[in-house]
Amino acid sequence: MLKKIPLHTQIIIGLVLGLVFGLLVIKFNFSPTFTINFIKPIGTIFINALKMIAVPLVLASLIVGVANLGDVSKLSRIGGKTIITYLLTTIVAVTIGLGLVNIFQPGKSLPQDTKENLMTLYDDAVGSKTMQAAELKEKSPLQPLVDMVPENVVEAAGDNASMLRVVFFAIIMGIALLKIPKGKAQPVIAFFDGLNDVIIKIVGFIMLIAPYGVFALMASLIVEIAGDNPDSAVQLLLALLKYSLVVVGGLLLMVFLIYPTILKSFTKIKYLDFFKAIRPAQLLAFSTSSSSATLPVTMRQVENEIGVSEEVSSFVLPLGATINMDGTSLYQGVAAVFIAQALGMDLSLVQQLTIVLTATLASIGSAGVPGAGLIMLIIVLESIGVPAAGIALIIAPDRILDMFRTVVNVTGDATVCCVVASTEGELPEGLIRQSNPLTADVEEGVG
Ligand code: ASP
Repeated sequence: MLKKIPLHTQIIIGLVLGLVFGLLVIKFNFSPTFTINFIKPIGTIFINALKMIAVPLVLASLIVGVANLGDVSKLSRIGGKTIITYLLTTIVAVTIGLGLVNIFQPGKSLPQDTKENLMTLYDDAVGSKTMQAAELKEKSPLQPLVDMVPENVVEAAGDNASMLRVVFFAIIMGIALLKIPKGKAQPVIAFFDGLNDVIIKIVGFIMLIAPYGVFALMASLIVEIAGDNPDSAVQLLLALLKYSLVVVGGLLLMVFLIYPTILKSFTKIKYLDFFKAIRPAQLLAFSTSSSSATLPVTMRQVENEIGVSEEVSSFVLPLGATINMDGTSLYQGVAAVFIAQALGMDLSLVQQLTIVLTATLASIGSAGVPGAGLIMLIIVLESIGVPAAGIALIIAPDRILDMFRTVVNVTGDATVCCVVASTEGELPEGLIRQSNPLTADVEEGVG
């Protein structure tokens, strides 16, 4: 019966049913432990399966992509464009966040007793996050560069948070393949080319369970957020509603104004087509809160549904999943000023500009995993002299906001990927949907 339902609709159904199921479990107190013990694992298996293929996918497709570029100058051109565009979109995002939070001032209206409650409630959580942030801060400013070069390739490939190291190794290997005699390079390239097709096929298999995985993730998330005391969880979320709306409002501006404008200015792709093409990736970003876990699907959609070449997408997207977090930087801008407002501190223009700089850097440094943005927020707060303990004020809705900002992170990566592809002379007619036999089973819907 599911045969005719397209994948993204199936995922939406899973998402909505999961939300409803989670709410019913809390409302009727219908064994939340059952949800955690027997439903959550399905979601975990789904996310793990996606993460499982992220490294081999990046490795294989990037090596083949670079080796097929033909010359190194093309690589540096694409690399330069990608990094500059990523930086610019991030700066725009923080600026929008700062603009909105200064206009609506959600922190000024937070009642004193709510502030005190939040501060005591999340005292412990703040301690552990501050420690994690302190560890990051102790490192040299050049640490991100040092982190990029793996000491051991196998070890780097064993850690999804080290994706940048894998990208680095794959690029070097691709370049080396361009420099050795063709006869020797060819079998290696052919091997990785085959491996790449195998991985894409596996993405197709995993997507078969996507609706169930998303259902499980949503249901268990709701049960976990509600915890033992659902009424107080709802009250906390309501107290922070204005702040949450400012964050979500900014994120919506990115998705419905900034990205369409960028696409219109630099590509021939119609935004609606773009949106339809990347919908499954956005839905996964929402339900997994992880750009890294979503990466295989983002790559698949951008290549198969939009028609971006593998050489561009396999370079631009993995890099974006690690360094380009427009949603995260926007949220960090709003959160930093919100906390300052709530604590009664007025921020000068210089402090606000410092936020633009540090939130941009912090979002580059945030890993593409759930909750990473919150830890990096502490570094932003410290740079403007706002006490890190202030994050207690915003922890309650953070998990939910993480879902929204991850959608923006992934949409931003896909937008920049289309821009780079178009400026490289690809997509002359806009979107080119390719029917890929490797993934056809999923696109058709599953039985
Ligand atoms: N969850 C986000 C991502 O993976 C990072 C963050 O903002 O926490 O893109």
